[in-house]
Amino acid sequence: MKQRPFIVTMLALGAAFSASAKHQETVYEHYPAYDGNDLELTVDEKGTHWRLWSPAADGARVMLYPSDRNTAAVDTIEMTKSIDGTWIASVPEKLYGSFYTFSILDRGKWLAETPGVWAKAVGTNGERAAIIDFATTNPSGWDKDRGPKIDHINDAVIYEMHHRDFSQHPSSGIVNKGKFLALTEPSTNNGMGESTGISHLKELGVTHVHILPSYDYNSVDESNLASNGYNWGYDPFNYNAPEGSYSTNPSDPSVRVKEMKEMVKNLHDNGIGVIMDVVYNHTANNDDSNFSLTAPGYYYRHRPDGSYSDASGCGNETASERQQMRDFIINSVRYWAEEYHIDGFRFDLMAIHDIETMNLVAKALKEINPDIFIYGEGWTAGDSPLPVEQRALKENVSKMPQIAVFSDDIRDAIKGHYTDASDRGFATGKPGLEETVKIGIVGATAHPQIDYSKGNNSKFAYASAPTQVINYVSCHDDLMLTDKLRKSMPDASEKERQRAARLAQTIVLTSQGTPFIFAGEEIFRDKKGIHNSYKSPDSINAIDWSLKNYNKEQFEYYRELIRLRKNHPAFRMTTAEQVAKHLKFDNVKEPNLISYSIVDNANGDEWKEIKLIFNGSDRARTVKIPKGQWTVIANDGKINASGMGVSSGGKVDVAPCSALILALKK
Ligand code: CA
Repeated sequence: MKQRPFIVTMLALGAAFSASAKHQETVYEHYPAYDGNDLELTVDEKGTHWRLWSPAADGARVMLYPSDRNTAAVDTIEMTKSIDGTWIASVPEKLYGSFYTFSILDRGKWLAETPGVWAKAVGTNGERAAIIDFATTNPSGWDKDRGPKIDHINDAVIYEMHHRDFSQHPSSGIVNKGKFLALTEPSTNNGMGESTGISHLKELGVTHVHILPSYDYNSVDESNLASNGYNWGYDPFNYNAPEGSYSTNPSDPSVRVKEMKEMVKNLHDNGIGVIMDVVYNHTANNDDSNFSLTAPGYYYRHRPDGSYSDASGCGNETASERQQMRDFIINSVRYWAEEYHIDGFRFDLMAIHDIETMNLVAKALKEINPDIFIYGEGWTAGDSPLPVEQRALKENVSKMPQIAVFSDDIRDAIKGHYTDASDRGFATGKPGLEETVKIGIVGATAHPQIDYSKGNNSKFAYASAPTQVINYVSCHDDLMLTDKLRKSMPDASEKERQRAARLAQTIVLTSQGTPFIFAGEEIFRDKKGIHNSYKSPDSINAIDWSLKNYNKEQFEYYRELIRLRKNHPAFRMTTAEQVAKHLKFDNVKEPNLISYSIVDNANGDEWKEIKLIFNGSDRARTVKIPKGQWTVIANDGKINASGMGVSSGGKVDVAPCSALILALKK
């Protein structure tokens, strides 16, 4: 979701609220919450049971169906009022294979049918919830399946991808294009000898894939997959069931569950973790959402006049501070972690949620698996009634010790501001951004050599530890790196732009914090200059894998850069104290030049000292470094993690728009 600049206005809530709207908000806070684990559907030896949370309803029903759509109900069961705002119904049979919806009586009117908010299996377009036996959906060996073990989030190298981008192009050589199953096919290639799919990920060396929303979203018509609809999926419909268009048969509710698990299993078998992009901050619909149709009004925040407030920029925002919504988020991520073995969660517009909820999310997930990590966008897309100090903002991340936030500081400083296509950054020759890049290099932690008042985005060290920051220069939002370089360097050659991309990613991959790259950057893909491709066709979004041949050197540079990072714990320090002690900036004055060392076998590194010099200008620079037996790791747009020659130090030349990395082994 796009970050939009906005001015925070503190609402004078008490004064501005109309009497009735304020009354209604207070009423929501007094709804009883239900914390049992049997919400909506359970099947056991005694039969099939429903329990719907809807405290203000005057009645509730379950409708039973023989199929996922276009059939009449075979039964309508009146629900009876139970504890804590819930309504219950039961039948003595296990109704596997059937479908159901709920409807509630609200102020004298039966509302439209809904699959509820806890549908874990659904049919076409998620219209009806399905009753399936989850034990039958597990791939063989599932009980022993486990994601990669990592000690800290910054041991991860994250690769952000969309199912369709990654496999849809004919050159992917993948059979199940655009599907979960694309990531189960071994040894695929582009027909020109270069690997694609899982083999490509392994070759590149990334540790985790962050996949754009994979829960059931609204916009792609699952009944007409031949139309090749495309969407990023930031329009949630059923939060607890997989998206049907990524399955081979959206009408069979078990298929999407099975195929998503197969994907996770195959990635895990290849040592790669799976991160889910979750969007609890808003829903695709307002009054017609599953939240609104089960408990009208409750799950959302409102303006003083009673209308939906809109910090998401998508028409509404959810209310994580209310108990049942808070529990919903926590139980939903727990469900994905336990049922689907998900290894990490990326929270869209995380600052719409409150800090306490995010801390409870982290606690619940770490109890399931301490290797699970959580990061998110530490901003909103508009103002919110939630007070600023309660928001899970980037600036508040020190209050969320187990959570990381995206560093827009390093992103905008390296390549230029996201709101202006032609704006350049440190790596493309714009002076004055050195201090902001340095803020990125130290993972936004307090450092004695950094003057945060010179920071472009943040004016203080917001991270308590480098593990709280995600470093990146490009993602699905805004112009991806290739397009940004084309627009901001219109007179440069493609070779020069590729060189700038290498410098940009070298800064990211060697910085303290967790690196994150966007799928296809490693082969210099583009999106034809489209900055908001959320519903653009495959011709814009699909990765052309033949680029792996044409841009082979670019790929090899990325692969070697990732290998360097993974081999060297010096790039992965875990405390602010370590960074302040071991990372020393050199006193260089020229614009677009940064020189620093990581010293004294930092974080247990085998190398005594690593010298990194970044030259973002279009001229060669000379920098004086101590004399010694330096091994050259990167120089003049080339890199080799094992070394490629030696340097005796002293005056060293740094080629235009490139990184010089040297290692002192003892
Ligand atoms: Ca869908």
